[in-house]
Amino acid sequence: MESTDPYSKRTHRISVSATLQVLTEAEKLKAQGIEILDFGPGEPDFPTPANVKAAGIRAIESNFTKYTATPGIMPLREGIARHHAREFGSSYSAKETIVTVGGKQALFNSMAALVDHGDEVILPTPFWVTFQDLITYHGGVPVFVSAKEENDFSLKAADVERALTSRTKLIIVNSPNNPSGGVVADDEFKKIAQLAISRNLFLITDEAYSHFVYEGRKPFSISSLGESIKPHLVVIGTLSKTYAMTGWRLGYALAPEKLIQQMLKIQSHSTSNPTSISQRAAIEALEGPQDSVQQMLAEYTRRRQYILDAMRAIPGIRCARPYGAFYVYPNVSGLYGKGGIRNSMDLAKTLLDRARIAVVPGEAFGTPEHLRFSYATSMDTIVRGMKVFHDFVLSLG
Ligand code: PLP
Repeated sequence: MESTDPYSKRTHRISVSATLQVLTEAEKLKAQGIEILDFGPGEPDFPTPANVKAAGIRAIESNFTKYTATPGIMPLREGIARHHAREFGSSYSAKETIVTVGGKQALFNSMAALVDHGDEVILPTPFWVTFQDLITYHGGVPVFVSAKEENDFSLKAADVERALTSRTKLIIVNSPNNPSGGVVADDEFKKIAQLAISRNLFLITDEAYSHFVYEGRKPFSISSLGESIKPHLVVIGTLSKTYAMTGWRLGYALAPEKLIQQMLKIQSHSTSNPTSISQRAAIEALEGPQDSVQQMLAEYTRRRQYILDAMRAIPGIRCARPYGAFYVYPNVSGLYGKGGIRNSMDLAKTLLDRARIAVVPGEAFGTPEHLRFSYATSMDTIVRGMKVFHDFVLSLG
């Protein structure tokens, strides 16, 4: 019998994450005027820096409001390459740079250009859910490799190596990691890069949280390895987190020129170009004063220490040390079986219903034993929220 379903098979392979339902519920409660202690957001709670906003306003006032070149305006492509070289010791030219509508479009374009049906893609767990859906959307097969909790979710090259087969096309590394905050040690990252070189694979490195690292860790990009890795490497960057610019939708990819050309084709038929106004603001963000990044880092450092100590003081909860990003990712499986809670989805729903706390359950990230708490929220919310969470856990007995 002929199917009556009019929708493409590829869109059926992906979904709007069901687990984000909890956050949608939280929004509904907020709209009713109910106060929610919100640990959900994956975005900075800081405003975009004033100098960056002013550059955007200037762009509008000078009528810089039309289409731009598909890969972005030349001063920005050059600025991104220069900035990346300065911050991480890479060496890219404007031709090896494409500006995109957020890091997400850079990821979409690179997967569309690289992944064919049946290709295996190494995806470390826990993972940001978009990676998984982009792989399956393009017909690839995710092969999961655990970045183990006992290693503070820091991925090891040996585990990646064990998962490689003749069908492997691509390895994805996201360090600092969303949701775990895990950071890959520099030497392990270099070993992973060597695997990509020796097996002739591509390596996507998602550097969305690169500037938010703690306890003496320094921002690191595997692109600093130099010419040997360049033919295999796709760097995904975004201004969303570093400069509190999530709404401006400005990201980029650095990659071999031939791959950039493939990505350009896709971009030319989808978004055409990133917003002209955001591109001007991005030049200011990357080339102007950088103090706002340091200020945000100092505030995240303070909040991280508080939330980590508070989390580790709760009986029945284990919490790895997150060396980057702005999340803690406690293991809450010790609470399962209490108060009718079977998994992290149940726990997140119960927390919202009974304690008015919003978090994202680990199911969204491939590890159902965990909950993601974002500390990109005020210290007041963190202090009150952790007290309420502690009391809630005690009330489960
Ligand atoms: N990569 C990771 C790991 C993220 O967490 C995010 C956003 O949450 C992004 C990329 C993309 O962000 P944007 O599309 O806003 O640049």
